Amino acid sequence: MPRFRAILDTMPAYKPGKAVVSPDGRSYKLSSNESPYEPLPSVVEAIADAARQINRYPDAGAIKLTETLAERLGVPESHIALGAGSVTVAQQLFETIGEPGAEVVYAWRSFEAYPLLADLAGVTSVKVPLKGEEHDLDAMAEAITDRTRMVFVCNPNNPTGTSIRRDDLVRFLDRVPDNVLVVLDEAYREYVRDADVPDGLELYRDRPNVCVLRTFSKAYGLAGLRVGFVVGHEPVAATVRKTIIPFAVNSIAQVAAIASLKAEDELLERVDAVVKERTRVREGLIAQGWTVPPTEANFVWLRLGDDTLDFAAACAVEGVAVRPFAGEGARVSIGDPEANDAFLTAAAAFRKG
Ligand SMILES: *Cc1c(COP(=O)(O)O)cnc(C)c1O
Repeated sequence: MPRFRAILDTMPAYKPGKAVVSPDGRSYKLSSNESPYEPLPSVVEAIADAARQINRYPDAGAIKLTETLAERLGVPESHIALGAGSVTVAQQLFETIGEPGAEVVYAWRSFEAYPLLADLAGVTSVKVPLKGEEHDLDAMAEAITDRTRMVFVCNPNNPTGTSIRRDDLVRFLDRVPDNVLVVLDEAYREYVRDADVPDGLELYRDRPNVCVLRTFSKAYGLAGLRVGFVVGHEPVAATVRKTIIPFAVNSIAQVAAIASLKAEDELLERVDAVVKERTRVREGLIAQGWTVPPTEANFVWLRLGDDTLDFAAACAVEGVAVRPFAGEGARVSIGDPEANDAFLTAAAAFRKG
């Protein structure tokens, strides 16, 4: 038996998710916060064109995509580092700070990838419990020590959907020492409608230790292609770029991301439709008697405690797959109206018992 790293024994083996199907054959996937829409025809066309050239290696520097993004976001190209999905970019960020004794501070519960990436990088996780359903930024600031190398702030937070206001985030950033990297994970930025929730791109500009993580997987509907990126000052972006596995962002993903930026208006209309559905779903749940934290993301959060797995089973009867966190609660993505209706039906039935 080869000797593996001990930390790997503490990590769960991959379990493939089972498709959820109702007795009458309906199936709605509301478990992964994906876009419910099929890709735009223009994006499919760009993908088909690129497929004809996959005998060639991709552009390792993703130059055209980097240029297009830089222009769209109004940042220098040298401030962007791309990866195969923002989870991979997060892994690269861990690579930049991971050495024995290093600590990372983040809220818990938050994005489930953080503890796994920390463990893989040999970085010690310092998990700061949420206050209610929100980040406890004071406690997070107090958790920073000489050993802290990085802080993750997920805004809006996955899985609670709650978000941090500008004044609170600025006050927090002012308390973080300059030599600690702060990563604002904004995977759901395009769904934010509350003007008091800051755009990380405003906040990073005069803060060399702050960077912003974004993805094409959610609002841009490219979850299957794996493209994400970080925006940070040149030393941060350049260091992250050093950690990428060569050719990690494949050529099809690169052209699809460019095509998606070209079709952004159409994609953002879809985001508007999801935001309208989000309001309808949350109000529907509240009318049924549920407590639902305000959400600025494309999902809602129900704190169900010991009822969580029963709730997920009740949703499955309607063909709805949700994301349960046993003993804590369930995260339910906003889908198309039919899927959302099926979810509301399941939630109402569960409440009545
Ligand atoms: C979905 C999600 C991501 C995106 O991951 P990709 O690897 O880009 O698909 C990143 N951060 C959070 C908090 C997420 O929920």
